[in-house]
Amino acid sequence: AKQLGRSRYSFFQQDMDAAAVQRMELERELKLALERDELLLHYQAVVDARTGAWSGLEALMRWQHPQRGLVMPGQFIELAEETGQILDLGWSTIEQACAQLARWKASGRHPGPISINLSALQFREPRLAERIAEAMRRHAVTPGELAIELTESSLLTDTDTVLQTLARLSELGLSLSVDDFGTGYSSLAYLKLLRPARLKIDRAFVRDLPSSADDRALVRAMMGMAEALGIDVVAEGVETEAQRDALLALGCWQQQGYFYCRPQPAAALAERLAVWPPQ
Ligand code: C2E
Ligand code: CA
Ligand code: CA
Ligand code: CA
Repeated sequence: AKQLGRSRYSFFQQDMDAAAVQRMELERELKLALERDELLLHYQAVVDARTGAWSGLEALMRWQHPQRGLVMPGQFIELAEETGQILDLGWSTIEQACAQLARWKASGRHPGPISINLSALQFREPRLAERIAEAMRRHAVTPGELAIELTESSLLTDTDTVLQTLARLSELGLSLSVDDFGTGYSSLAYLKLLRPARLKIDRAFVRDLPSSADDRALVRAMMGMAEALGIDVVAEGVETEAQRDALLALGCWQQQGYFYCRPQPAAALAERLAVWPPQ
């Protein structure tokens, strides 16, 4: 038994080593990716489901890996958060979103506000607001053209700092969306305190619409609460017409999902963006 125990242990140890090696390799590659500008943004439309008109975009990071092809954030964001590389990644997100907005405007198009995802770690970076302001100035991005998305859990710690940062971002004209709403810790008190502009209902509540009575009830409750507090709501992960209609029936008309638009490179979207400046 002792023998078995030891061999099991060493087997486990080997597994651990393999995972650790893989991790270090990914960390090293991610560092190169940042240097070589292999991290780029794709964009997905936020849509007014009543009319089908696009009202803005969400920027979503992709890694154009020289061998592995297009790598999705699920495969590198978590590691980047653990290693701290998420900070450099996040600066790149901010820079690229501002630069793209400037390019679209220069070519006579405007996507409406671009939402960028920020990690909790970045949100606690003291220079955040200053760096965003600097990128906005450099690319002539004006208030209201950029918004940030944070998950509930990133907002739950260190309220004073969070409030200060939000106030500074708000001065710059950046509104806050609470991402993946309903999946994190219960933060109803925080909604009152932080007054985000928007809640994004996680796609977990959209997936089983229209058939799930539970999800209909939950979405209805979220809509009622948001309305009472004067907060807008966007539903994520809308994939079917039936989901669109169920959400519309519940009063949720700001929607996002594959049904309307898959995340895609900026160039693929240009034609569908509003003409700018308005004629
Ligand atoms: P998220 O912010 O909740 O983004 C929504 C995710 O749902 C995206 O996955 C998007 O591609 C996907 N999605 C959109 N519509 C549909 C749909 O109809 N059905 C389904 N099944 N999925 C849909 P993606 O692009 O893989 O990003 C995953 C997560 O990675 C994001 O979740 C966000 O938390 C994070 N992320 C992405 N870009 C960045 C970034 O620049 N910085 C940071 N810190 N995090 C990012
Ligand atoms: Ca998001
Ligand atoms: Ca989300
Ligand atoms: Ca998510």
